[in-house]
Parts: sequence; C-alpha cells; structure tokens
Amino acid sequence: MTRRIGLIGNPVAHSISPAIQNAALAAKGIDATYELWQTPLAELAERVASLRADDVLGANVTVPHKLAVMEYLDEVSEVATRAGAVNTIVHREGRLFGDNTDIAGFATSLRAACPDAKTLPAFVLGAGGAARAVILALAEIGVPTTTVANRGEARMAALDAELAGIAFQRLGMDEAGLRDALPTVGVLINATSIGWHPGETPLSLDLLAALPEGATVVDLTYRDTDLLAAARARGLRTLDGLPMLVHQGAEAFTLWTSVEAPVAEMLTAAAIARDARR
Ligand code: NDP
Repeated sequence: MTRRIGLIGNPVAHSISPAIQNAALAAKGIDATYELWQTPLAELAERVASLRADDVLGANVTVPHKLAVMEYLDEVSEVATRAGAVNTIVHREGRLFGDNTDIAGFATSLRAACPDAKTLPAFVLGAGGAARAVILALAEIGVPTTTVANRGEARMAALDAELAGIAFQRLGMDEAGLRDALPTVGVLINATSIGWHPGETPLSLDLLAALPEGATVVDLTYRDTDLLAAARARGLRTLDGLPMLVHQGAEAFTLWTSVEAPVAEMLTAAAIARDARR
C-alpha cells in the first residue's frame, strides 16, 4: 500500500515541502508520497479526521491552521503546546499526535552555522509564529540573553502572555533604541515576514554597522535577502532559512517513518525547488 503524507494549509501551492519530502522518501526507498492538501478553515475538521485512514502516515500544518488544528488531535506534545503551534501531525494506529519541529529545526540549523551560539546574546526581529519558535529554540540552546523587537504591539503582547516562563527582553523598533542595543548582539535573527522581495528589509541596513565584528545574521526567509547581502558585505557570518526548513522537515520525516532522514538529499532538493520558484 502506498502511504500518504500531506501539507494542510491555505494556501499551500507555493510550498517546496513536497520536493523536499518526496526526495527523502525516494532516497530511503519508502513507498509513500507527500501531497498538497489545500484546506479552508471550514474543511479543517474533516481534513484532520481523514488522517486516521490506514494509508496516512501524517501531515504537516502551515498557515493559518497551526493553532486551530490542536482541538482535533488526540494528543499535543509539550513543545507544541508551549509554542502554541502544531506543524506536524503523526498518525499511529488511529490516533493523531501533534508536534512542533520548527523549534528543533531552527536550533539545529543555528548550531551548525554558528557553533558558539550558546555564548552569544541574541536579537529577534518579529513576534509572530516563527519568532515564537526561534525564541523557544534560543532558550533550548541556552543563549545568555534574548531581546525581541517588533513593529506592532498586539503580537508582542501575545508573546509576553504566551511565553510566560521564557526570559526575553523587549524593545521597540525605533532606530535609536536599535542602534544602542546592537553593539552587544552576537546573533541577529529576522523572523518577520519581510525579506523575500528585493528592496524589503526589516530594519534600516545601515544599522548593521552597529553589530560587532564576528556577529551572525540569520534570515528565516529561505533565500538570500537584502539583509543577508548587506551583512555579508560588512563581513558578517550569515544564514538563510533554507536549512531551518529542511531540518524541521527532517524531524517530521523521522516522526512519520521512524527512519533517519537523508538531510543532504533534502537540502539539495530544497535548493533546487527554491531556485525554480524564483
Ligand atoms: P506571522 O504572520 O505570524 O508574523 C509576521 C511577523 O512579521 C510579525 O512580527 C509582523 O509584525 C512582522 N511584519 C509583517 N510585515 C511587516 C512590515 N511591513 N514591517 C515590519 N514587520 C512586519 O508570520 P510567521 O511568524 O509565521 O512567519 C514569518 C516569516 O518566517 C515568514 O517569512 C515565513 O516564511 C518565515 N518562516 C520560515 C521558516 C523556515 O523554516 N525557514 C519557518 C516558519 C516561518 P507585526 O506584528 O507588527 O504585524
């Protein structure tokens, strides 16, 4: 029986997860396919119920269902509960388990690119779902301090309320405040949705001059961005979001199949699919 896995979200057509996961399934000789399951909110309950079929191994969940999906699951992991988001569902003998692999995905990609991350003060731009996963990953890595700056108040207030117990400082996005804070930052992370298009930057690029030499700039956008190009021009270490995407997918692959993920093949497939999307 060919097994099925899919991506539940709305929209999903742009996703490169099928390319990454189908490459992994092929590399490991697993008889399964990864599909796109476009799902409006009104069909979410029915979609999740369909995962209990014998041929389904599980699913990924993306925007806007990562929180809403929880109520339809039999169990949700501690880490997903803490993140307020399920991005992976595992089907085992009729029961559905919700998990979150974005946190481990970010932690693995940062540790690989920046082995000294544990000793470096971190600064996160953004306060949405991705920023939440990043803040939890930074806590798991054990960075000395995490500072978060966001454009609007509403998401920041939600972050304060929902990440109770995780230590982080908050800052506004005004340039003077950023200029004062950046000289002590070791890792700057863009977790806003700004960056995919040329000319889009989450902060004024001349602020990069305030970062110390040897700092690392990370952008969760899974391609090169103006922010990363400017950081490289300043001689800083950079990391885009593609390894995070692959490592969260690798964690999910192992949860579904109990097989070690072929990370190198997944990275290659991800880069090819990403470049084809440009
Ligand atoms: P959300 O919609 O939850 O949050 C968006 C964030 O971006 C908010 O902090 C928002 O600030 C900020 N933002 C949006 N527009 C602007 C703007 N014009 N100026 C300044 N800030 C802005 O999105 P997610 O957190 O889910 O995703 C954020 C990004 O991370 C996306 O690009 C996504 O693709 C990427 N991502 C990458 C992953 C990977 O594996 N590489 C995994 C998950 C996400 P405000 O509150 O003020 O609106």
